[in-house]
Amino acid sequence: MKRVICFLLSMMLLLPVFALAEAEEEEVEIGEIIDAEVSAEESEEEPEEETAPKAGEWTFPVALEDMDPTFVVLANKHYKLDSKFVPKPLVKMKQRKANKDGSNKNGGVLFAKGGTYKLQETCAEALVAMSEGARADGYNLYLKSAYRSYQTQKTMYNNRLKKNKGKDDGWVSQPGSSDHQTGLGCDVVPKSWRDKAMNGKMGKEPECIWMAEHCQEYGFILRYPSDKEEITEINYEPWHMRYVGIPAATYIMENGLCLEEFTEQLQQAIQDYLAAGGDRAKVEKFIQNPTEK
Ligand SMILES: [Zn+2]
Repeated sequence: MKRVICFLLSMMLLLPVFALAEAEEEEVEIGEIIDAEVSAEESEEEPEEETAPKAGEWTFPVALEDMDPTFVVLANKHYKLDSKFVPKPLVKMKQRKANKDGSNKNGGVLFAKGGTYKLQETCAEALVAMSEGARADGYNLYLKSAYRSYQTQKTMYNNRLKKNKGKDDGWVSQPGSSDHQTGLGCDVVPKSWRDKAMNGKMGKEPECIWMAEHCQEYGFILRYPSDKEEITEINYEPWHMRYVGIPAATYIMENGLCLEEFTEQLQQAIQDYLAAGGDRAKVEKFIQNPTEK
């Protein structure tokens, strides 16, 4: 008897809790019922047609599973990287050594000048593959610049300002806004430009034409295209390759986009996906907000 009373008492105490929970679920339930009714009607009338995206469906042309959030990161004046940001894993590039038949002996790339070049590991591997691909087509690509730390960029920027009477001419990025700090950006030049000051004329070289045509096959994009200077706020750089992964690179290059435009589209797609009830956990790592306007 005591047990029954206890049970009844606890049920009375719990009732308001159940009521609350039900009230919270009400909206969802109504939505589900409406959805079920609509789909039932649709399936009666037109059973063959079902093209409308379902709630929470990812409709962006590049699948989420085909992108790595760390590879599509945007670094520019408005999306600055933290001064402590260092890409991982960062690897040292090897200078290419050839076997007797000319094939790659050590998994290296040609260096434009002496020194140390570091890149994020996946990007480094892609650069070796791209260089070998170019070589097979008769072109030699030389790595001239790779990962730059925040501090190195800061020194470079200040030096440029001094040289240019304090005016930012768009040739050297502000610290935190350089694509080179991502470890996914690198400057690749033809043999004749190894020691020359770089400018847009390099784009006419067959090596640069080859890169513009084939880079996406290796996961690279042209980071600063000639027709996007107003958007990137960086002068045309036919030598600056940026790794984003093959699916994203293919989409970007085939649609003539720059990374800023891609980021805008991707962020919009994320907002639309979330607004339609998509799973936040699936997109959270891709969300990027401007650090300043
Ligand atoms: Zn560069």
